[in-house]
Amino acid sequence: MKAFVVEKIKDKEFTTGVKEVEKPILSEHEVLIKTSYSSLNYKDALSSTGNPGVTRVFPHITGIDVSGVVAESKSNLFEVGDEVLITGYDLGMNTNGGHSEFVKAPDTWIVKKPDNISLRELMIYGTAGLTAALSVNELLNNGITSGEILVTGATGGVGSISVAILSKLGFDVIALSGKENQIDYLKSIGAKEIILRKDFDIENKRPMGRERFSGVIDTVGGNILAEALKQIKYDGVATCCGLTASPVFNTNVFPFILRGVRLIGIDSVEASLAKKTQAWEKIASDFKINTLEKLVNEISLNEIQQAYKEILAAKAVGRYLVKL
Ligand code: NDP
Repeated sequence: MKAFVVEKIKDKEFTTGVKEVEKPILSEHEVLIKTSYSSLNYKDALSSTGNPGVTRVFPHITGIDVSGVVAESKSNLFEVGDEVLITGYDLGMNTNGGHSEFVKAPDTWIVKKPDNISLRELMIYGTAGLTAALSVNELLNNGITSGEILVTGATGGVGSISVAILSKLGFDVIALSGKENQIDYLKSIGAKEIILRKDFDIENKRPMGRERFSGVIDTVGGNILAEALKQIKYDGVATCCGLTASPVFNTNVFPFILRGVRLIGIDSVEASLAKKTQAWEKIASDFKINTLEKLVNEISLNEIQQAYKEILAAKAVGRYLVKL
């Protein structure tokens, strides 16, 4: 079968390319999926560079997401012909991932395709969409039902899908982005206003700012998260899922003790299968966005390397969909 493979040449030196590799053989409770689609996420790009925080076993096939059809099954939970998807767990980390014609996985990682959504649409969302859905869910479950919501890293995968879902739900979405040339794109997927990163990413010594946002979906961390917390209204909520700006942020207790602000961490990778399944059902119904095609760059296995360069240079916009 064909796959996008990362190989270690010597210490800290890696090479990548599309190769013919052996089709995997199943053990008990495993399923072989014939891949229809996969996607690219920030973590895949890190894996392709040999980043040891993501992947330590080489040669390695990248791709933390996959959708497709069951081709062989040694599980009593899945039958040949079932339409399924996987996001996260160890897929694409130290287990070979979705950038491959066939994917082998334990049955405990697999979600059945919900009705009303295609295998293609599922992978436009992918891990980024699941993370966005879990973030929006936390805002809703914590009483945020209206007002202005700030979304950071707004042109990225998690950011773009968050903007689109929140806009569909009727929130006023304020998109924070470093890309001055993507204002039209952000408006087209539902942003009401765009704040440029250079006007927000400042080491602001003020303990608090003007109350503005009912909620924040942060995908970047660093100074941006610290500044956003200072601008959340009384009883507001922020979610935090990413670190493209920095994993470190300096803050103070005032937003929490004077305004009752809550900061909620999001992890879509190790979330339980039940939680993932529930979120995918939501993505296929209430959270289903009608601007999905505006987000997508469809590519083949041969174009993955170039796309990784764009992601690592922070130039990517929306979602890369990989068609097998
Ligand atoms: P993308 O690469 O698609 O998007 C990241 C966005 O962050 C960019 O498009 C850019 O948006 C912004 N950005 C890039 N560099 C910087 C910088 N130096 N400072 C501030 N903003 C920057 O990534 P994803 O959307 O897929 O993921 C976003 C983050 O969430 C990543 O850190 C990822 O690892 C994490 N993640 C976490 C998950 C979890 O379960 N916790 C699951 C999925 C992702 P713009 O130019 O518009 O500002």
